[in-house]
Amino acid sequence: MSLISDNLQAVRADIRRAAHECGRSEQQVSLLAVSKTFGADAVLDAARSGQVAFGENYLQEAVDKITFIRQHAPELDLEWHFIGPIQSNKTRPIAENFAWVHAVDREKIAHRLSEQRPATMAPLNICLQINISGEASKSGVPPEQAVNLALAIAKLPGLCLRGLMAVPEPTNDEQQQRAAFRQLKFLNDEITRHGIVLDTLSMGMSGDLHAAIAEGSTMVRIGTAIFGKRDYAK
Ligand SMILES: *Cc1c(COP(=O)(O)O)cnc(C)c1O
Repeated sequence: MSLISDNLQAVRADIRRAAHECGRSEQQVSLLAVSKTFGADAVLDAARSGQVAFGENYLQEAVDKITFIRQHAPELDLEWHFIGPIQSNKTRPIAENFAWVHAVDREKIAHRLSEQRPATMAPLNICLQINISGEASKSGVPPEQAVNLALAIAKLPGLCLRGLMAVPEPTNDEQQQRAAFRQLKFLNDEITRHGIVLDTLSMGMSGDLHAAIAEGSTMVRIGTAIFGKRDYAK
């Protein structure tokens, strides 16, 4: 067994424990393995340990990895999620290569993704990124604009609006972690009251997975705890 495979098992056990602690089933929380900065070999290792969904932040790196794996391991049917910030001139490769996009925060980006999604593919699954902590520098739509953005995006034919995503300000204080995730869940419920069906709360990373699951996360995005520390210098 490899280190990645051991780590995956440990993360799955963590998810199970966190879910059971708050009376949920681990089947309500899916695991997105965030493989940014790691090579195709690491993804293949995780995939051969049963991991199907992978998250990437950097478009060129991701497309190279996806292309390589489709060529070299065509038997693997992996599900790719784009979780990084989106530049409007880079939407086409996202629309053509991914199953999910987690960081949509503008109508313009959504329109382009919808138009550029190939008709032969299923609609692109979308999460709106919400700027929960309210820092001016962070991406994400302000909470008070989320309902209107959701109503606009829900109409686009090439997209399927699935839910909300947030990356709260990092903190080791579990109460603060939970307060941020609770805001996202609250907003999810508000959008649902406007008649939009959502089934995904993309929240929780290696450092705050327990808090996220306790507040209703349905998808945790885990990088470091599976693949190890990232080396951005490489
Ligand atoms: C890198 C990244 C993650 C994974 O973070 P870890 O702390 O390594 O688990 C999750 N979500 C987003 C949006 C990221 O950019």
